[in-house]
Amino acid sequence: MVASPLVRFAPSPTGFLHIGNARPALLNLLFARRHGGRFLLRLDDTDRERSTEAFAEAIRADLAWLGVAPDLFYRQSERTALYDAAAERLKAAGRLYPCYETPEELDRRRKRQLGRGQPPIYDRAALDLTTGERAALEAEGRHPHWRFKLDHRMVAWDDLVRGESHVDCASLSDPVLVRADGSYLYTLPSVVDDAESGITHVIRGEDHVTNTGVQVQLFEALGTAVPRFGHHNLLTTADGEGLSKRLGHLSLRSLRDAGYEPAALRSLAVLTGSAESVRPVASLEALAELVDLAHLSRAPARFDPAELDGLNARLVHEMPFPEVRERLAGLGIAEDAAEAFWGAVRANLGRVGEAAPWWRVVAGPVTPVVTDAAFVAEAARLLPNAPFGPGTWKAWTEAVKAATGAKGRALFMPLRLALTGLDHGPDLAGLLPLIGPERAAQRLAGDAA
Ligand code: GLU
Repeated sequence: MVASPLVRFAPSPTGFLHIGNARPALLNLLFARRHGGRFLLRLDDTDRERSTEAFAEAIRADLAWLGVAPDLFYRQSERTALYDAAAERLKAAGRLYPCYETPEELDRRRKRQLGRGQPPIYDRAALDLTTGERAALEAEGRHPHWRFKLDHRMVAWDDLVRGESHVDCASLSDPVLVRADGSYLYTLPSVVDDAESGITHVIRGEDHVTNTGVQVQLFEALGTAVPRFGHHNLLTTADGEGLSKRLGHLSLRSLRDAGYEPAALRSLAVLTGSAESVRPVASLEALAELVDLAHLSRAPARFDPAELDGLNARLVHEMPFPEVRERLAGLGIAEDAAEAFWGAVRANLGRVGEAAPWWRVVAGPVTPVVTDAAFVAEAARLLPNAPFGPGTWKAWTEAVKAATGAKGRALFMPLRLALTGLDHGPDLAGLLPLIGPERAAQRLAGDAA
């Protein structure tokens, strides 16, 4: 392992991040944490038509919410001069050549090749153009796009996830690096930035394996060090469908708005398809300890969004009060009672926001439901004196049981209905002291309080 790795997460700001993007973001961050390295956030925004400032801001905000704080940040749209310089060097070395085919021409050629049973690989016809032919095409108003001339050889690397890996570049078309309008496709800027920033490990989805063959050749053509690569399996839905930025319902934004904890998302996004069981892991540090790229599975990482509910609930059940203090204040829960209230209700919550209705049960007004007036009146008479504390419920119900002979559900349910108006809810031992002697007496008398 290099002394201080530098990794990067490089989304294009063309949509909201979804849980599938959270996976490379986190795997990179956790790798940096595990190995004492740093994490660069790079916005791959060379596609000027589809990239927007609103998405760029959303990506930064959503990552911050997820707990992914970059050590470094930049965007490709500010670095065109670097890409131009690299393109010039490749041209000078004869590795970047102009092509004039229209998409229709290329399509016809591909169909012809397929018809002959040949692989639809670009035939490099443009390499044979004479200077005069090029000049004629340009005089017609055609602008060239530029292709990288691949070496037709095998590129091999030791993948951090997949082990020995290779791509046969003889079976690939020379990739277009520069569009006819002069803008760059993803490939060249990515390599130039990785090289210029000194990225040591490129950790990304396995949909980029083929790109790695091309990109290794580009690093070499530019005479720069080749980073190590790791390609993780992709998150898919339970029926194996890939996730896309268009799947709005799994965007980090919508999951945040629905009240899920970032730690629940992190655990699902990272532990699915790993050697570890999917379980709630509250801190990034603990998650970094668990996740070793070499132990990721190579099968698709299928996940069920419904798993989030269980993970979230388990995190909430263990969540210490200081972590929710502010959110509880935001829900209108009185500060002086908030800690005891949290202790009383958290085991019943799937999401923190579900605390709000229980606060209304505590603070009232609650319309009591009195099913057995005589029983409830007797219980009211036995209600212990103020102040109420943690032992009040037990002492009271024991006294009611001794006086009435009621036990189990017949003892507890009429009391719960009268005190809360509901037939279910958090343990009354915790709620009763919060409801307090006055409201408890009023509710037991059948009055809304
Ligand atoms: N912008 C590319 C993507 O989002 C980055 C891929 C990479 O990590 O190199 O797919």
